[in-house]
Amino acid sequence: MAGNIAITTEDLKEAILKDRLLLHYQPQFTPDGAGIQCVEALVRWQDPERGLIPPRLFIPLAEKTGLVAELGSWVLRRACRDGIAWPGISVAVNVSPLQFRDPGFVDFVRATADSAGLPFSRLEIEITEGAYFDDIERAQNELRRLRALGISLALDDFGTGYASLTYLRRLPFTKIKIDKSFVDECQTVGSAAIIHAVIALSRALGLKVAAEGVETPEQQRFLRAAGCHYLQGFLFSKPVPAAQIAPLLMRLSAA
Ligand code: C2E
Ligand code: CA
Ligand code: CA
Repeated sequence: MAGNIAITTEDLKEAILKDRLLLHYQPQFTPDGAGIQCVEALVRWQDPERGLIPPRLFIPLAEKTGLVAELGSWVLRRACRDGIAWPGISVAVNVSPLQFRDPGFVDFVRATADSAGLPFSRLEIEITEGAYFDDIERAQNELRRLRALGISLALDDFGTGYASLTYLRRLPFTKIKIDKSFVDECQTVGSAAIIHAVIALSRALGLKVAAEGVETPEQQRFLRAAGCHYLQGFLFSKPVPAAQIAPLLMRLSAA
């Protein structure tokens, strides 16, 4: 897919209206690769002319125009509905910080999971560390309300933003996702030291740690020995259509 296709707000509106979005799911595995804890919903846009458009080409536009609220609602509804077919597995949904500005966000999440029949304990919300909360106290309250329901909260892209430690101290996250850039360089002394420190910090805070973008057996070995709880990346599985998750779970449980 060409990286420079022109996308307009009208195109995106139409894509949402005409149901041209779809979700792929990428599993997070136990460090030995034998089990799946969670699948992350990743949105794509299936355009009749341009083919499958990746989120980096339209999420920024959606955020700029406010359409991300509509897009995010669609993603959450679909992910909750898909998720009920995978017992014992959580579904993780990426949420844009703009969605939090809606005072009805927590109620919407609750109602959506409820009407799909997805237990709150099987829903995880991912918030990127690059997210800027203009009102951290409000964010704290909203996230606490989600936690009180039993919904898990992951701090995504950890290490790439500017507010990591403040967020960890003030917001009730349950999981840290170490960014791919550290995993890529985990053979270097600097990144290895940072990964060890992040895992020690997370464990001290009682959080789970997932590593993103794991591509090689060497990275798996390192992250497993370092004590990561979950691994996600092309080494185990690319993001795949919903229909491929149940067979994958069956294959793993039969092994
Ligand atoms: P993210 O949340 O950090 O998602 C992980 C991205 O890394 C995904 O790209 C995934 O395909 C890719 N990835 C996973 N494992 C590997 C690997 O081993 N190697 C490499 N090279 N890449 C890997 P994707 O699906 O293109 O999504 C890009 C970003 O778009 C996501 O980054 C997320 O920030 C955003 N996004 C995706 N879906 C949604 C959504 O529903 N709502 C919002 N607000 N953002 C979304
Ligand atoms: Ca994510
Ligand atoms: Ca990430």
